[in-house]
Amino acid sequence: MRIAVAGFMHESNTFSGTPTTLQQFQEGSLQYGADLIPVWKDAHHEVGGFLVGAEENGFEAVPVLMASATPSGPVTTEAYEKIVGDIMEGLRKAGPLDGLLLALHGAMVTEAHTSGDGETMERLRKALGPDFPIVLSLDLHANVSPRMVELPTATVIYRTYPHIDQRYRGRECASLIARTVRGKIRPVQAMCKPPLLLHIVQQYTGSGPTAEIMAEVERVAQTPWILSVSFAPAFYYADVPDMGPAVVVVADGDAGRAGAEAQRLSDFVWARREALTAKLPGPAEAVREAAAHPGTVSLMDCGDNIGGGGPGDSTFLLAEILKQGVRDCLVVLYDPEAVQACIRAGVRETVRLEVGGKTDDRHGKPVPIEGQVRMISDGKYMEPEPRHGGKRFWDMGPTSVVETKEGHLIVLNSLREAPMSLHQILCLGIRPETRKIMTAKGATAPRAAYEPVSTKVIPVDTPGVTAAGPEQFTYHRRPKPLYPLDR
Ligand SMILES: [Zn+2]
Repeated sequence: MRIAVAGFMHESNTFSGTPTTLQQFQEGSLQYGADLIPVWKDAHHEVGGFLVGAEENGFEAVPVLMASATPSGPVTTEAYEKIVGDIMEGLRKAGPLDGLLLALHGAMVTEAHTSGDGETMERLRKALGPDFPIVLSLDLHANVSPRMVELPTATVIYRTYPHIDQRYRGRECASLIARTVRGKIRPVQAMCKPPLLLHIVQQYTGSGPTAEIMAEVERVAQTPWILSVSFAPAFYYADVPDMGPAVVVVADGDAGRAGAEAQRLSDFVWARREALTAKLPGPAEAVREAAAHPGTVSLMDCGDNIGGGGPGDSTFLLAEILKQGVRDCLVVLYDPEAVQACIRAGVRETVRLEVGGKTDDRHGKPVPIEGQVRMISDGKYMEPEPRHGGKRFWDMGPTSVVETKEGHLIVLNSLREAPMSLHQILCLGIRPETRKIMTAKGATAPRAAYEPVSTKVIPVDTPGVTAAGPEQFTYHRRPKPLYPLDR
């Protein structure tokens, strides 16, 4: 049995003005054929799960292509057509195949397609034929569209946020496809979309209403005739017709029962709609609260969530920290210009810089800082543990650390890399316990890395392209009604 393995993953923020080009995939991750194995085999990612799942289920994995880029604006037509074209060509050249394990994100938007992933599924189904087994894995933030459920043989979605079960889900996909090809199961699936949105911080699966929903998903998944169950809370930083959460039930042979169970779970979600909303403190209140709390407090910069398409250079929290005179904080900013200035000045030299706030006018102004260049690094680090996103090898580009006279450590980097791994700062010799406040550009995902070294984590309602609640955006293409936007 020979099963192809391919991935093409991007979460596209339609409120971001930064298009996602081929270069961003090259800077992110883009491997062809066997080259993807050393990058992904040991990663806590579904592609790692596909590869190890092949061994567990006794089939040959045929690696085709894996592409992923840091979330940003919609993918350009050039980048989309190149990558999807290369996947098709790789499949044609792969020799005889019995199936495909495919990792898509589920919230990709391209210049031409509001559901890039639906388009990809359609092209693949057309090329491979109606009966060819395709098991699709999606991110928990997928905006699941009908084509992502009607066209694959089975669809499996992560169940954790921060996403720490990705490798396990990949292994689940491998088991499903092996049993399908061997004729042991006949997957059929159904989707139901509850008409609501879950506030980004309420999508946390560690506690609260979404933890309750996922416990129910886990319970239902044990039912003998059910093969897999998923709940995707969706990605509301995309103004697209398929935006919104989804329940997906994969049953063995009985589509009617799958549909009824999807509806029941959707009602279970709907019943919790009020608990799924939230109101967060603004920067002034959050910095005050953090300063008064003992130990190291992490502030989540929700409006500049790099993992959701934020630019990574928002300065609202830095400006507020300086204004309130809190000492010994940590701020990481994407600012390639400032990195180059530090490199020109050299280690131990004093620099005066205007940092951050350079991508656009929605994420604060550049902030003047003065301090000593403490380190210059190539910005590469490795994360061996399961962390959100599942990547093993990370690269934030040339990076400098500036220590200001207020004792702040300002980390400046050259590639937008989301704060999912604590090794992003540990690799620079920064010890979390010496920091009063650490800021992380995310909402919920950085918790897996930052919670263990913080006495408290406070999500902050900062402005930006990933501002915390959906009520902060103007939508033109989203479905209606969706609670709480439409009462
Ligand atoms: Zn996600």
